[in-house]
Amino acid sequence: DFEIAGRKALVCGASAGLGFACAQALAKEGAELVIAARTEAPLQEAAARLAALSKAPVSWVAADVTTAEGRARIFAAHPDFDIVVTNAGGPPPGDFRDWDREAWLRALDANMLSPIEIIRQTVDGMMARGFGRIINITSSAVKSPVDGLGLSTGARSGLTGFVAGRARTTVGRGVTINNILPGTFDTARLAGNFAAQARRENASVDEVREKRLVKHPAHRFGR
Ligand code: NAP
Repeated sequence: DFEIAGRKALVCGASAGLGFACAQALAKEGAELVIAARTEAPLQEAAARLAALSKAPVSWVAADVTTAEGRARIFAAHPDFDIVVTNAGGPPPGDFRDWDREAWLRALDANMLSPIEIIRQTVDGMMARGFGRIINITSSAVKSPVDGLGLSTGARSGLTGFVAGRARTTVGRGVTINNILPGTFDTARLAGNFAAQARRENASVDEVREKRLVKHPAHRFGR
């Protein structure tokens, strides 16, 4: 029991993958949930699956959390949260020679500035109430950079530096800010990355998957 039953939680990017898994864990703890993602039908379906796990209310807001309008829609419906999980799709992999200023700005916007905006809109209320948990889903690439994931590593390293400084000023008021750095987890995104790599390397998806799997210390991807 993490003693978070009845706490109000926002989970971004929560209709699938890692975000949905976080929402599931929070639902099992009895947290009140607001989940967000861009596409309405799978989001609604995810909310129904989460509601079946818990007596606490589950609501959803269809929103692109990387845009000011999307975030405004969430906070208009639910101004205060005790727990926030920031998460969205990652930037595309590729060769840095192909990334112009616009590509960099898109990555920074989605994977550094959007989580910072969400922190900005929630952290003062949490500190005033004396409790808050903010978790940013980033990537193990921050600690263990991978060639080809430069947009992701660059933007997420910026977020890491910001959070490290900020968290030291909030923890004394009951608010922790942490980043989760996942390795390879078996989600739709991972399947998409393998398909893209297979096309680039003119290999089959199974070959690409197997090549990654043998390098994995657990000999399986995360679930
Ligand atoms: P996923 O299975 O593709 O799920 C992504 C979820 O986020 C979906 O619900 C998607 O729904 C939603 N989403 C995407 N962009 C959004 C946006 N702009 N606004 C709101 N919701 C959005 O992805 P995942 O594997 O869980 O990955 C989540 C994050 O973790 C990504 O940033 C990824 O780079 C990072 N990560 C993943 C792994 C891994 O192995 N899976 C490893 C390291 C880091 P909609 O498309 O309907 O919006």
